[in-house]
Amino acid sequence: MWSSRAEGRLGAKGGLGVGRLVFELPPGMDWLRVRAHFAGADLPNLYAVDSEGATRLQWWGLRLGEPLIVPARLDEGASLWPGAVPGSLPAGGWHLLLADVARHGEGPRYRVEVTAGTGAPPDEPQTDARPVAWLSGAARPGEPAYDRYGWEHAAAAGARWYRGDLHLHTLLSDSRLSADLLSRLALERGLDFAVITEHNTLTTAWVPTSLMVIPGVELTSTRGHVNVLGVRSFPPLWYGEAPTLESEAAIDRLLAAYAAEGAVCSVNHPLLKPWRWEWEGLSLARVQAIEVLNDPSYPANAAATRGALALWDEMWRFGYRVWGVGGSDVHLLPEERRAPDEPPQVVGDPTTCVWAEALTPAGMVEGIRRGRVYVTRGPALAPEAVVGGERRLPGEDLAPDGGPVELEYSLRVEEGPGEGWVRWVENGEEVALEPLSARGRHSLRRRWPAGVYRWLRVEVLDGRGGLVAFVNPVYAHAPSPPPERRWGEAAVRARHGAGEERA
Ligand SMILES: [Zn+2]
Repeated sequence: MWSSRAEGRLGAKGGLGVGRLVFELPPGMDWLRVRAHFAGADLPNLYAVDSEGATRLQWWGLRLGEPLIVPARLDEGASLWPGAVPGSLPAGGWHLLLADVARHGEGPRYRVEVTAGTGAPPDEPQTDARPVAWLSGAARPGEPAYDRYGWEHAAAAGARWYRGDLHLHTLLSDSRLSADLLSRLALERGLDFAVITEHNTLTTAWVPTSLMVIPGVELTSTRGHVNVLGVRSFPPLWYGEAPTLESEAAIDRLLAAYAAEGAVCSVNHPLLKPWRWEWEGLSLARVQAIEVLNDPSYPANAAATRGALALWDEMWRFGYRVWGVGGSDVHLLPEERRAPDEPPQVVGDPTTCVWAEALTPAGMVEGIRRGRVYVTRGPALAPEAVVGGERRLPGEDLAPDGGPVELEYSLRVEEGPGEGWVRWVENGEEVALEPLSARGRHSLRRRWPAGVYRWLRVEVLDGRGGLVAFVNPVYAHAPSPPPERRWGEAAVRARHGAGEERA
């Protein structure tokens, strides 16, 4: 058995303490194990990068001292740490990257022990029983990672709304839920799919259930979080001696690369302090979606959601077809509360519903990319935009040929709140507000002239005006491409009242 130890203190805080350790792995090892202890850390995280530059181990969050094992072979039925990348362990200089996303105090102390050996790996991690690996070995940066994952596998067929949660965490990052429990809660809620979005960590294995779980990642910086939905390759998280995510230029490059490989980049809880998006210079061209509705159990999210709606409208005023999505962002067990008087976090609250011909991972990501999405805290919606006798979906361009539009839009609301409102918003302005009907049927007619940019979306509100559901816009004559605009420009206008400098 070979082993190496190191201890020290991460760099002084100014947001992030970081450290890098190098060790020489001997040849012929069958497993590698890392144990790490941090003292005084807020959210410590650790990555191992092998001598060929591939990420082999990821860990972000709470479970201090857990033995993290990377096996050289993926044996059937073997328990796999869901942040480990199995595959041959090349000899030579490996790097251990350490960081702590801390907001106060001086850098935490760490103690790390790396061990490697031959034969069966010792004391395997006590995670979920028998997760199935999504990959068979290490991928270099930028290469597709999930060679054992079925992006086109249909878990169900038929054109309908499929129900999912786009923002979820497990023990692999800082949540208290195991993959097994998360899957059960999602199925109990009636979800068809879930996107797993651990902080700066790619999930490498999942327990097999009837829930379709799609790989994602929550790119987590000190100045904002963005979900990459349908991620296919490992994020290059470190650059030189600093994490890649701590600069605007690097985030820009990363989001461009992810969008190019077909993933959807969605800025999470964009206005929720202290996790709101503060990279003001980000081009809106990099943003395919924003999380309008995040964890409704969190008290500050009521105001943050109203702000997110205003921000979303500003992006559309600029001509950017950014889609609104939702995510529960669950970190707590069902019986836990942040404070005694707060409601529990609920997997599937809100639910993001995606229209597709079949339930496949690639199809869900594509549906989100095209805006065929509504988001709900409960009611089932049937939005139907009809133009010239043809049914159109949310997210659609209603006048691709440039002509005028005669739109008949109907919305059916099933199992809505007893009392509430349906609110129609055209070009960021309320054009109709009607009490929720007992039959749950609502409709609106609009006539749009040729060549004039128009977009229309609809919200369902409860009796107190809280957002219960919303449907993504349909539109016509959008500028293409829209003029170059940055995040901060939309944010400033949203803060100072909608549409100030509207053209
Ligand atoms: Zn999150």
